[in-house]
Amino acid sequence: MYNMGGADVQSFAGALSTGTHGSGGIHSAYHDMVRSILLVAGEGKVYRIEPSKGITDKVKHNRFYEGNPDLDKVELIQDDDKFYAVLVSFGCFGVIYSAIIETRPMSYLKKKNDYFSGGWDEATIKTTISDIVDSLRKSEEIFHYVQFNPYPFGKNEHPSYLTRTLTLVKKKTKEW
Ligand SMILES: Cc1cc2nc3c(=O)[nH]c(=O)nc-3n(C[C@H](O)[C@H](O)[C@H](O)COP(=O)(O)OP(=O)(O)OC[C@H]3O[C@@H](n4cnc5c(N)ncnc54)[C@H](O)[C@@H]3O)c2cc1C
Repeated sequence: MYNMGGADVQSFAGALSTGTHGSGGIHSAYHDMVRSILLVAGEGKVYRIEPSKGITDKVKHNRFYEGNPDLDKVELIQDDDKFYAVLVSFGCFGVIYSAIIETRPMSYLKKKNDYFSGGWDEATIKTTISDIVDSLRKSEEIFHYVQFNPYPFGKNEHPSYLTRTLTLVKKKTKEW
């Protein structure tokens, strides 16, 4: 995947349905990766929903169900308005059973954690903000995650973390 949320505790369908944004500043959210959704709606009716220029071949899809009359037909909908409405819909249209997403070759991530036991001094704040703005301006794949503790700990200190994650080498995808 070319982007993820700041954590991985959410379900994919839950993150999709609420418009969860990703953690990589230069990439769009999860939704841009989705090419096709399999939705189970009222009374168990199943729909495959895609943008108008969807990835499923309509003729082959219909021919498959004509050749297999014992199977419950999955109705194919290829329509931009309906697709984008279902994409972020809080479960209002039914249960998203699966989604086909566009991925990219695997890559390694490098993560650097800096711990500031005394909290942030002004210079660190300025450097951090300018690093973030610079990396966005250069379209670099750097994710900055700032954890600032607002409560004094010990001698009026605010222990804080700064995590930087960047994409390293594109890893050759293994054949499974
Ligand atoms: C630790 C943590 C970190 C987070 N980080 C980020 C972040 O970096 N960026 C960000 O934008 N948000 C973030 N969030 C918010 C989080 O992504 C959303 O709240 C997300 O909706 C949670 O997903 P969930 O699987 O818990 O969904 P739920 O809370 O279970 O459901 C959310 C909505 O999706 C619907 N839904 C769930 N599953 C399906 C399904 N299969 N079919 C149809 N509808 C469904 C539900 O009906 C509900 O309306 C974070 C949340 C946590 C707890």
